[in-house]
Amino acid sequence: MPPADTLATYVMPNYGRYDVWPVRGEGSRVWDREGKSYLDFASGVSVCPLGHSHPVVIEAMIKQARTLMHVSNWYCIEGQAELAKMLVENVVGIPGKCFFSNSGAEANEGMLKLARRYGHTRPCADGKARRDVVSFTGSFHGRTLGAMFATAQEKIHGGFGFIPAELGHVYATFNDIAALEAAITPSTVAILLEPIQGESGVNAATPDFLRAAQRLCRQHDLLFLLDEVQCSFGRAGEMAGWRSIIPGDEISPDAVSWAKAIGSGYPLGAFWVKDRAMSGDAQSHLCDLLGPGTHGTTYGGSPLACAVGLATVGTILNEDLCGNAKHLGQHIAAVVRGWQHPLIREVRQLGLFIGYELNTERLAQHAGLQASGKPASIYLAKALLDAGLMTVPAGPSVIRWLPPLNITLADADEALALMKGVLDGLM
Ligand code: PMP
Repeated sequence: MPPADTLATYVMPNYGRYDVWPVRGEGSRVWDREGKSYLDFASGVSVCPLGHSHPVVIEAMIKQARTLMHVSNWYCIEGQAELAKMLVENVVGIPGKCFFSNSGAEANEGMLKLARRYGHTRPCADGKARRDVVSFTGSFHGRTLGAMFATAQEKIHGGFGFIPAELGHVYATFNDIAALEAAITPSTVAILLEPIQGESGVNAATPDFLRAAQRLCRQHDLLFLLDEVQCSFGRAGEMAGWRSIIPGDEISPDAVSWAKAIGSGYPLGAFWVKDRAMSGDAQSHLCDLLGPGTHGTTYGGSPLACAVGLATVGTILNEDLCGNAKHLGQHIAAVVRGWQHPLIREVRQLGLFIGYELNTERLAQHAGLQASGKPASIYLAKALLDAGLMTVPAGPSVIRWLPPLNITLADADEALALMKGVLDGLM
């Protein structure tokens, strides 16, 4: 059976895949089984900050695999201690503690459980547990039941039944302070937001919106939860994504979730919880709220996962890849804005987190796009792929560039030339 038939016969059809079969990667390049090479500006959707097969990651992986790959969380795992220390001290910069998961959705589930627990211990005036979490239009938090319903997008949770009131998800318009204020009720326990929404097309929270969300959390004793699964570890030019919007210490979340870049492609996620006294009880600390037996996962924070995480995050820090992301991101945005291309409406850029808002009306006039029946972003991403550039569509009208953070100026210029050629060809 040809591999395409084997895939169609035995693998579920839940992904709309391009018919490209990558088999090898090195640095910012990937090769398919026909030997065609691609410049990878998708990085597995923001997953490979060091590119493919980075020697430091491979070394760490081999060394740890030879030593001890997995051991249960019944025992103490040194790599967890070291990686958590690195995350607390060098990524968040605020005292707290971490939990290790295997994915972004699972990290968010942990934060949602933290909020539930907080609502139990800090109930409404009538004694009922607070449970509602406010999340935002355009958000994406993952595909598990809790994370899916926290995702305020019909296209993600539609067709999976009604949102059980017991799950306590409340939606408000992103970047609308009045809507957020109106969404808060006595049963609200947390606000969950992505400082920079990736799946909806690189849309950053405004500084005022971030400030307002934090102020409302303090005012109503809500947990301020940031989903940094896509925007952290230098992607937006800072280790903590929110600092690319408001630098310094003004924003101080209660919890932050991570995945993607933390493991260079090895499944690893985590969330951090602030070390602060909980309201009304100076003795109990928020970061200890999920005590023994309240939460867990078999693989989370295995010695192998942590070794890869340490190598990855350590290299981002040691090689100042935040600086490279800022510098090359600005270069790319300046070049594309300079084209004033009729097919690009807007460039949204923070570090190497870049979204191109397409002129969908103009693209819709293109015969090939009409014949394909596809949204403009999917069609353009395919045209770029054919030209040798991997990118990621976001919604129907945005193309994202999420290259490795260690790309060179030559890589950036090559990608720019490829995209310019494809766009010109569509005119
Ligand atoms: N949150 C955000 C902001 C994401 O971008 C994603 C993945 N695109 C997730 C959560 C879910 O992560 P995972 O697919 O690892 O569960």
